[in-house]
Amino acid sequence: MLKEKKFEKQKLKPNEYVNGIISGNRVILSRAITLIESKLQADNELAESLIEQLLPRTGKSLRIGITGVPGSGKSTFIESFGKLLTSLGKKVAVLTIDPTSQISKGSILGDKTRMEELANDPDAFIRPSPSGNTLGGVHSRTRETMLLCEACGFDIIIIETVGVGQSEVAIRGIVDFFLLITLSGAGDELQGIKRGIMETADAIVVNKADGENIKKAQRTKQDYINALHMFPPTASGWIPQVLTSSALYKEGLEEVWEMIEKYESQTKKVGYFLRNRQNQNLQWMKDIIDFQLKYDFYHSASIKQKMGELENQVREENMPASTAAKILLKKFRE
Ligand code: GDP
Repeated sequence: MLKEKKFEKQKLKPNEYVNGIISGNRVILSRAITLIESKLQADNELAESLIEQLLPRTGKSLRIGITGVPGSGKSTFIESFGKLLTSLGKKVAVLTIDPTSQISKGSILGDKTRMEELANDPDAFIRPSPSGNTLGGVHSRTRETMLLCEACGFDIIIIETVGVGQSEVAIRGIVDFFLLITLSGAGDELQGIKRGIMETADAIVVNKADGENIKKAQRTKQDYINALHMFPPTASGWIPQVLTSSALYKEGLEEVWEMIEKYESQTKKVGYFLRNRQNQNLQWMKDIIDFQLKYDFYHSASIKQKMGELENQVREENMPASTAAKILLKKFRE
């Protein structure tokens, strides 16, 4: 009974969430994000209505995606870069997405104390974001969390992902600028898994360019520049840049920020910036529809039953997969 009462107390009224977020209250922002992440239908409905009410106050921030393999220095970079941004008077929200947390319950990102200095900065807000395939599709919640942060007055939203899976591709679809953090040395790096990411990156930063590593980092930078020449021009008209940094010794970070500012002004001038966001909104809608359709299909009792009947025939090649699919889709449309 007592517990229930306490729980009741924790829930705010919708307008308390809205007003709290608008006034920049981080505690209320955190609670609203918890609603977004909740598995309860009622919480999600409330979250959706909050987003609807707050939508006119979103969109003014700059959204930056940062990816890189574990150990490349992402959290060190974001901490130093975030501190630079807050020193310039910016309010910075960092959303970290850890694709491993769902599977192993352990976490590449979460276990160690990360970004301690930035976490204590009154102008920064750090929040891990679940990466699961939730209602509304992959990273729908990250997108919604981002919108709440914008309504709360953050100027810059940094979304961090580990460059080991597909999450960075999804993140590309919700940010304005996509930055790949990499390291010098590994020669075959250019051909490896990062090729796909490289193709969509607006910039590559070769990190740990300090001490004995400086020369190697410069060489790697040149390798990347040469490699990028071979990619087709980007839709934004922006030529992807390659820089070096030392996140640990806070070097090269101003250059990264200057570059991002240049990207923003250049792509705004040619109209790409807005067009990209509009396309992202449309894509978001389609992602939600895709997800919902699939969900409804696979959770329909009649489909489940029919699929059970047909599965064996398909498995044994007594019926072509295409025929079975047609029968099931027809049934779904009935
Ligand atoms: P993440 O897994 O990509 O988030 O990487 P971390 O930020 O945790 O960094 C991994 C290790 O590299 C840590 O021991 C950092 O101190 C170190 N590191 C990060 N950035 C730099 C850098 O610019 N120079 C050097 N020398 N070490 C760095």
